[in-house]
Amino acid sequence: MATESQNIFINKKPNFHCATCKKVIKEGDKFVDIQDQQKGMCFKCSSFKDYVFLPPGDAAYQTV
Ligand SMILES: [Zn+2]
Repeated sequence: MATESQNIFINKKPNFHCATCKKVIKEGDKFVDIQDQQKGMCFKCSSFKDYVFLPPGDAAYQTV
């Protein structure tokens, strides 16, 4: 069973690379931090890649 902790952060470092695909993660972009390994990865390499961010507000009243 996976026990590693994954958190989503906003990048504030100017030269930050994804640990998996080595692409640059721009300042202000979201990335996924793996705390046990002290590394970060971009969203496309993470297990969150198929997730959708909802806009702020009451999601119960969103219409598609
Ligand atoms: Zn990546």
